[in-house]
Amino acid sequence: MTDSESMIYLDYAASTPVEQGVLEAMTAAMTIDGNYANPSSTHAAGLYSNVLIADAAAKLAGLLNTQPERLIWTSGATESDNLAILGAASYRKDRGRHLISMRTEHKAVTDPFSELAKNGYDVTWLDPEPDGLLDIARLEDAMRDDTQLVSVMHVNNETGVIQDIAAIGAACRDRGALFHVDAAQSCGKLPVDLDDLPVDLMSITAHKFYGPKGIGALYIADRKGVHVEPLLFGGGQQRRLRPGTLPTQQIVGFGETAAIAAARMHEDFAHITQMRDRLWNGIRDVPGVRVNGTLDKGFPGILNVSVEDVEGESLLLAMEPFCVATGSACNSKSQEPSYVLRALGLGDDLAQSAIRFSFGRPTTEAEIDFAIERYRQGVARLREMAPGRAA
Ligand SMILES: *Cc1c(COP(=O)(O)O)cnc(C)c1O
Repeated sequence: MTDSESMIYLDYAASTPVEQGVLEAMTAAMTIDGNYANPSSTHAAGLYSNVLIADAAAKLAGLLNTQPERLIWTSGATESDNLAILGAASYRKDRGRHLISMRTEHKAVTDPFSELAKNGYDVTWLDPEPDGLLDIARLEDAMRDDTQLVSVMHVNNETGVIQDIAAIGAACRDRGALFHVDAAQSCGKLPVDLDDLPVDLMSITAHKFYGPKGIGALYIADRKGVHVEPLLFGGGQQRRLRPGTLPTQQIVGFGETAAIAAARMHEDFAHITQMRDRLWNGIRDVPGVRVNGTLDKGFPGILNVSVEDVEGESLLLAMEPFCVATGSACNSKSQEPSYVLRALGLGDDLAQSAIRFSFGRPTTEAEIDFAIERYRQGVARLREMAPGRAA
């Protein structure tokens, strides 16, 4: 499908292709000669679907070093974030209604908090430092006796900034607040040891690390006071926390995805680091170019760069045939500059000139070299055409 003549994909932070082995396992869980039975059924076929699901849960739990019983299947990170935030806030509402998050979170986190703010909860929005990191002292200052939940993402989807979730979680434990982490961008790409980390709730999704779209999970720690109220009601599956017939093929695909990621994590990390460094070294001397976020504390699968005196939409056009994200993937249909980059202190022009390159298993040196050429040419040409901007 991907016609490499007419497009080159450097948008792996938005989604990834499914691995062949994942697809084969999924197909076998759907067809007439496969395991299509409803896993809730108590006959032999249903029980076998259940075995497949248990196997997938074990693989995912293995990737995250936790127990399979701690994982609730959802439709993706958006649903997991909603279940964690709305569900935990509701469960703990009689203890207090103060919640804390950051301005640089994904919409799947900020929007549920905004809904809660309209319904009698008090939400504190923390600003990041200019490099995108959360200063723990700022979090400690914001904590109150009635703080119930803190939500901070692991890897930022726009900038790749990696938050210190161990330190943030420790601060939450000190004050008795639950800690939710949106790990959609880090799951399967960075080591996550849930047995060790002070994390109570964690959202993940398969399609950001070579799994199918439409399947995710919420980790719920086995700890006193950690619980979520369900958002859906129905057949009672998954201890009533998220009812509905389990999508066997999605879950089996997710399990395979997790097993492959566990085996490949170091190799993948080394590869994307090489790709990111090659791209940055190829464009870093372009006048006025800068990294949004931080290179040394950033996830190497993402390189977000802005450049002075160039209009963002024109630069994106000049980048053809590359599929890259501008400002923000979610905001790119609007002309609004990215709220994440604005929170790092960028003005409208710099935020609008931002391009997010993101790298994956299939990315090659040749693609990177071509991206360097396009970027350099694009910036130079746009400056020639509109020299007035450089005033
Ligand atoms: C992609 C993403 C989501 C949404 O995940 P879906 O599975 O597509 O719903 C949430 N948070 C972050 C950080 C993401 O990158």
